Amino acid sequence: MQELSHFINGEHVPGASGRFADVMNPATGEVQAKVPLASVAEIDAAVAKAAEVQKVWGATNPQKRARVMMKFGQLINQHMDELAEMLSREHGKTIPDAKGDVQRGLEVIEVCMGAPHMLKGEFTDSGGPGIDLHSMRQPLGVVAAITPFNFPAMIPLWKMGPALSAGNTMILKPSERVPSTALRLAELLKEAGLPDGALQVINGDKEAVDALLDNETIQAVGFVGSTPIAQYIYSRATANGKRAQCFGGAKNHMVIMPDADLDKAADALVGAGFGAAGERCMAISVAVPVGKETADGLRDRLIPRIEALKIGPYTSGDDVDFGPVITAASQARINGLVESGVDQGANLIVDGRDFKLQGYENGYFVGASYFDDVTPDMDIYKEEIFGPVLCQVRVDDYEEALKLVMDNEYGNGTAIYTADGDTARDYANRVNVGMVGINFPIPVPLSYHTFGGWKKSAFGDLNQYGPDAFRFYTRTKTVTSRWFSGIKEGGEFNFKAMD
Ligand code: NAD
Repeated sequence: MQELSHFINGEHVPGASGRFADVMNPATGEVQAKVPLASVAEIDAAVAKAAEVQKVWGATNPQKRARVMMKFGQLINQHMDELAEMLSREHGKTIPDAKGDVQRGLEVIEVCMGAPHMLKGEFTDSGGPGIDLHSMRQPLGVVAAITPFNFPAMIPLWKMGPALSAGNTMILKPSERVPSTALRLAELLKEAGLPDGALQVINGDKEAVDALLDNETIQAVGFVGSTPIAQYIYSRATANGKRAQCFGGAKNHMVIMPDADLDKAADALVGAGFGAAGERCMAISVAVPVGKETADGLRDRLIPRIEALKIGPYTSGDDVDFGPVITAASQARINGLVESGVDQGANLIVDGRDFKLQGYENGYFVGASYFDDVTPDMDIYKEEIFGPVLCQVRVDDYEEALKLVMDNEYGNGTAIYTADGDTARDYANRVNVGMVGINFPIPVPLSYHTFGGWKKSAFGDLNQYGPDAFRFYTRTKTVTSRWFSGIKEGGEFNFKAMD
């Protein structure tokens, strides 16, 4: 049995608490490793060291820090296959999807290669008589990141790139279900030239998280995970005087207008609804066709596409559309929610509950399910299922569709499929959701834009990556300066060295 470690002060360090969690292989249901769960003392020692290192790293010129990001980007590219395999082994997603996970994180590192530009301040010449003003962006100090299981590479990279290139040091607590990728990324960062102790990867559960939230040295907390934990972490971090940005769960709707290309909409829904077994915060889990004809047409197109989906372990190669879900508890919860949908009167058109894969009977596989005639009072509509389940809610007109999306408590992403620019524009302007796709199913913004939901999908100010991340990970200091008398009052005529 492999025993994983922490990565502290530039080296792998075994856990000292005596507590461990099992890291499962979701495709087989077997324990493949044990990950240590850090104690308060381990966290506090790692934070103290990160604070020392920050004094040097924060004073390193921004271009030198950016060069570490350049080398890191090269190393990620070189190790793409290895990282993807490592990630799939613990998460279960297919290899092409795992490469996408690494790639979308790498793209944030690419933006961080230009961090000096993002860190420049502002200057006002002669704001008053002989008075100049300038502002500078200074790093916060030691920051913490707490990340979820569903993007083991991308989300840690979203956090570490901006935080480190802005001159902070970081404690990263990855999901204890998928710890290996973050540990490997820390090794690559060391190889890229990051000083030891600037990125401490500490594995753990609630005890470690609470220790980070209560540690007085930690200046900011970046969290991604489920909404109840996001809300908890936001409250505790901010009550302790820290900056916090906490991104939570989602229930993303796609509105399909009567003028939409239904084949394209159905293709998009299948990918966005069932890709990664629906375990994406930007998955489309609710289809909202407008009008009966659209709803019937969409259903007719979705059924064969959903029934043809291939489910299997990542080791089966590129032929598989999605893999298992993350845990046995998750599998049971998803199947239970599907059951509740049937009990509460939704129309289960494709039933994935009894899916079994020969040779992988103990794996956490869930077949694809598709419900029609879902209503907003049903649990399958209200809960974030986070599994391969697509719900179709029928509405009569555009305003009803818009109201449905706006009344939902989550506001991460949404999409509209239509051939009419005016409707698309109206939707994008009025909807109270952070990321909108127009004829585009998963509108995760590119890395030089910025990612963040609204409503219960995010707590705190500022988004992840892009310019907002550099605002989050720096403090602005503004200097107003005036010089009374200088050399011009009494010139010196000798040619001499500056000393
Ligand atoms: P989770 O909330 O269970 O765990 C996230 C992190 O919080 C993990 O590191 C975990 O160890 C820690 N944690 C869990 N319980 C805790 C507790 N009681 N106290 C302190 N820390 C705790 O989330 P998950 O299951 O790993 O990830 C799936 C969720 O993440 C989904 O809801 C998904 O929508 C969301 N997500 C959101 C985004 C986004 O950007 N909005 C992106 C990806 C995933």
